Amino acid sequence: MPELPEVETIVRALRPVLCGQIPIKITCLKSKILRSTEAWTDFLNHPVTDIARKGKLILIKTPPYVWLIHLRMTGQLWWQHKNTPLPAHTYLIINMKNTKYELRYADVRQFGYWQIVHESKLSNIPFLQKLGPDALNITPSLLEKQLQKKRTAIKTLLLNQQCLAGLGNIYSDEALWLSGIHPLTPANLLRSHQIKKLARAICKSLQRGLLLKGSSIRDYLHPDGSKGLYQKHRLVYAREGLACMRCQTPIRRIKIQGRSSCFCPQCQKLPES
Ligand SMILES: [Zn+2]
Repeated sequence: MPELPEVETIVRALRPVLCGQIPIKITCLKSKILRSTEAWTDFLNHPVTDIARKGKLILIKTPPYVWLIHLRMTGQLWWQHKNTPLPAHTYLIINMKNTKYELRYADVRQFGYWQIVHESKLSNIPFLQKLGPDALNITPSLLEKQLQKKRTAIKTLLLNQQCLAGLGNIYSDEALWLSGIHPLTPANLLRSHQIKKLARAICKSLQRGLLLKGSSIRDYLHPDGSKGLYQKHRLVYAREGLACMRCQTPIRRIKIQGRSSCFCPQCQKLPES
């Protein structure tokens, strides 16, 4: 699943090519992918002024409309010449004025979707209303506030987009390993110095992910089809049985609320309650 660094990498790649383009035609090959209460034709012929990210969500701004793109598990955006064969599982194609390139959306598992809304209604979207602070800019005091009085396992909270927006399984495992915190630690048992360390580790792991242009472990690709490099430099994620890079203890994997979590049993000890 694309997380903050993967989504931000896509946004940075698309910004220079999409800004100024004028969408003139939408072809939707799977109706559940495009959700809108308004007529599709209304969205066309408004130039793209910006492309942004909120958590793992992509926002293409074509005032007075905003196109919200939820990639979810396997959504992929492609910017390709119209003569290039369509990537497998392409369900949306957006043609632009005066260019032979088009924006394509492919999604093997079809959990992702596009929502097109009038900008005046943006603040009514429940997903956006509930979204927590962006993980890339999290400060120790803000993280402390988000975790306050919660007995939930820290790993579960880090994955909760209402607590913190942008983290998924990869970078939350990395941040917990960097800060020496066991993924099952109840958040209310974390001490101030640990939260401080964790906030720094979250930013550091996301920055590493950005620098390496994301992680192409499964379906994630850049809009030109190239791969991210993070999977070659991961610290603990998906390293079950391999030696911890700090202490050589074999990395363990456990399931927490259905999501797997890799950690070092030596560097990341559960506090005694
Ligand atoms: Zn270790």
